[in-house]
Amino acid sequence: EVHQNNTNTTIVNIEDKITPKKCVEIARKAYETGRTRSLTFRRTQLKNLQKMYEETQEEMVEALKKDLKKPRQESYMSEIDVVQNDLRNLLFNFNEYTKPEYPNKDQTQFFDTPMIFKEPYGVVLIIGAWNYPFLVTVLPIAGAIAAGNCIIIKPSEIAPASAQYISRNIPKYLDKDCYQVYNGGVAETTELLKEKFDYIFFTGSTAIGKIIQNAAAKNLTPTTLELGGKCPVYIDESVDMELTTKRIIWGKCLNLGQTCVGPDYILCSEKTQEEFISWTKRILTEFYGDNLKISPDLARIATNRHFNRLVSLLNNCNIALGGNIDSNERFISPTIVTNVKLTDPIMQDEIFGPILPIITVRSKEEAVNIINSKEKPLALYIFSKNSMTVDYILNATSSGGVIINDVVVHVTCDNLPFGGVGDSGIGVYHGRKSFETFTHKKSVLKRNFCPISEMLYKLRYPPYSDRKTRF
Ligand code: NAD
Repeated sequence: EVHQNNTNTTIVNIEDKITPKKCVEIARKAYETGRTRSLTFRRTQLKNLQKMYEETQEEMVEALKKDLKKPRQESYMSEIDVVQNDLRNLLFNFNEYTKPEYPNKDQTQFFDTPMIFKEPYGVVLIIGAWNYPFLVTVLPIAGAIAAGNCIIIKPSEIAPASAQYISRNIPKYLDKDCYQVYNGGVAETTELLKEKFDYIFFTGSTAIGKIIQNAAAKNLTPTTLELGGKCPVYIDESVDMELTTKRIIWGKCLNLGQTCVGPDYILCSEKTQEEFISWTKRILTEFYGDNLKISPDLARIATNRHFNRLVSLLNNCNIALGGNIDSNERFISPTIVTNVKLTDPIMQDEIFGPILPIITVRSKEEAVNIINSKEKPLALYIFSKNSMTVDYILNATSSGGVIINDVVVHVTCDNLPFGGVGDSGIGVYHGRKSFETFTHKKSVLKRNFCPISEMLYKLRYPPYSDRKTRF
């Protein structure tokens, strides 16, 4: 079956050629009507989003197949089920999330009511990436709706079928003025960013994240930046190597390596490296059969640009396993690279493909030094049965998240805030945090006019004297 998306950077036509200015104007007007403040309205919109997910799953699977040849099960696991769980969570906890909080009082507040009131930001911009085009747009959309915002959604132009799905279905299921889809590439996004938003939520690369942050700074717009980076894997010699390899290879091959939390490189001893390679051979056959290219369970590289970038990373590399490429299908077989130096091109930027370099280390300390010589990763994976080793690495490194003895799956835990730190991002979402991300927590102090409480309050008035405040 041939991967159908060879148009690469096709830019989806902008419906009705509506300008970004007009989009924002419509959204702002809709926001000012106050209808997104209504909890009933928000709940209905969330239910409609849920309905969209129930009724159009096949369309989603088809779009993902066109854009990335994403396997059906992967589409369900990573783009449909996760979002449906999060939507269920938001609706189930909706009253709890939206109600005001009443913090403990201090002694000066005896007669007062201090309260934290949850207020939407206003009109928010959500910019998505192409690798998980539904997950990274619909999850933040759900949070922004729950919090009562109006939204302009900019899907990635690199996944055109998915972008078309979003622009076709969002207006069908949701309020057309409050939630609008604006399609386009760099030029259109640049135009969009000239408008003033009340919040910007961006998923994409660190380099573009900086452009977004700069544009936001002009209006002091708060942002969440969900970025990428090189996610390291440390394996010590205490582990079950078969299971370790299985889990890592699954995470690496998911979406053919185009996963923000995909394992990027491995740090382990020479002995572990040998075992890992030999297990990988068996496991690849077990997962995908003898001819990996015809397996329906491996996706394809999204664009020629990314494909060529990955192929050039393999130049002068010592390929221990794999390395088969087919430019017609933009296929690269899962590839292990050894004898890697930290200065090699493959160790500079996020790989974002099915190539897995291994760097051999003699100790956990050496592994930590390597991890810390790079920017803070989005995720860090520690494979060890030794709790001292795990504690040491947890304390000696910084990353968006950590999994001990597995990879990638923390993304599906809606009780764990998801996001990066340093170069891998700013802010978190998923579950409760999706609601909080799009919510301004407004501090409110309520006072009364009761003469008894006024006895206390009046101490602040002039004429001042030490007797009034230093008792
Ligand atoms: P990207 O940064 O190229 O593009 C992301 C979005 O930004 C797209 O919608 C694109 O149209 C827009 N964009 C591109 N260039 C722009 C410019 N000059 N000005 C304004 N907007 C611009 O990222 P990508 O290639 O779509 O996605 C891959 C990256 O995203 C990887 O680094 C990956 O790790 C990261 N990612 C992170 C997460 C996460 O949750 N942290 C999830 C998925 C992907």
